[in-house]
Amino acid sequence: MWWNAWASMRMDKDQRWWSFEWNFADSVRSQMNLPEKIIIKDDTLREGEETPGTYFTIDEKVEIAKLLEEMGIPEIEVGYAAGIKEHADTFKALKRDGIKMMLSSHARLYAEDIKREVDDIISAGADHINFLLVPGPVLKTKNAVFERIVEGIEYAKSQDVTVAFGSGRVIPRYWKKFLALAMEAGVDRIVVYDGNGCAHPSAFKDNVEFTKNIVGDIPIEVHTHNDLGLATATTLAGVEGGAEIVDVVFNGLGDRAGNAATEEVIMALEILYGIDLNLKLDKIMEVSQLIEKYSKTPLQPHKSIVGKNCFIHESDLHVEQILIGNWTTWELFQPHVVGQNRKLIFGATTLQDRALKAKLNKIGLTPTAEQLDTLRKQIKEKIKTQDFISERELEELAKKTLK
Ligand SMILES: [Zn+2]
Repeated sequence: MWWNAWASMRMDKDQRWWSFEWNFADSVRSQMNLPEKIIIKDDTLREGEETPGTYFTIDEKVEIAKLLEEMGIPEIEVGYAAGIKEHADTFKALKRDGIKMMLSSHARLYAEDIKREVDDIISAGADHINFLLVPGPVLKTKNAVFERIVEGIEYAKSQDVTVAFGSGRVIPRYWKKFLALAMEAGVDRIVVYDGNGCAHPSAFKDNVEFTKNIVGDIPIEVHTHNDLGLATATTLAGVEGGAEIVDVVFNGLGDRAGNAATEEVIMALEILYGIDLNLKLDKIMEVSQLIEKYSKTPLQPHKSIVGKNCFIHESDLHVEQILIGNWTTWELFQPHVVGQNRKLIFGATTLQDRALKAKLNKIGLTPTAEQLDTLRKQIKEKIKTQDFISERELEELAKKTLK
């Protein structure tokens, strides 16, 4: 029968989720240059704090970092250890608390004194320095920029930390030259940014591939913004271009429209690409809620993965399918996978027969057409004054009506 085609979906071996079979078609997969391993680098402490109105105390940052570590996240971006004293203190607090994740600090390539910039970061306890090139008054000429790239990377490397380099916006004219200088100076990682959400995902993929062809074995990190609602797509496009590290922010926080959301990128890599990230995915909800609380930035109810609506079903056919065990009809992954809960509610869109019958059958009741009609009327009456009725309320109502 035609619906047997539904069975051709690709089911996860532990039944945690399923995926569109076509995602794995040769014609699709052959277009990708997926890396062997992907590192999730969470940037919530730095970029998440740039969300307007958000400020995390050091204690809150330590608590968030601990939870990220428990979840298995291997790296975090902590802040600007050289420029902001409280960020330097955060590095120290994280080290004091025994955090083992790689702690990364942003560094200003345009700083007046680049050696001091590096020294301050290292003395705060950072394991990794992330040099960012943005326009500024210190580096006035092209040659000054070229010299600074080499000077900054070489000095940081001499101080026994790993070093990344990226330009806030990839300037096609100079990108090759920047990369050549960074490689010559011994850079460990290249960051490809879309700091304004201005890149088409396909163009971003192409940019990462172009970069990869130049830098060879040097890993590439991608960092994207959500100004057009495409940050997750752009990050994934970067991975398809060969990027090994994704710099992402929980709940999609960040300045303006925010960044690629950690939870979205993680679940997409697992489900759409079949990549095992070796993370405790069932911690996602807990981390998201802690960050929601401390960031004072409430999530929209329909936020993907962690929104409170993600596993609430009200519409007739949806509720029925869940009740008879066919979760794959309307859900992509099971709620427990990310630490969510499923909830069935009965309201204006559940007043046809299928959901009500399935629910009543489940508690051992077989209603007549007349009894169903009475029940429907009662529900209609109730939802005049409340948004919906819960499973529990429905059970009570049904037991009374079908007595
Ligand atoms: Zn950013």
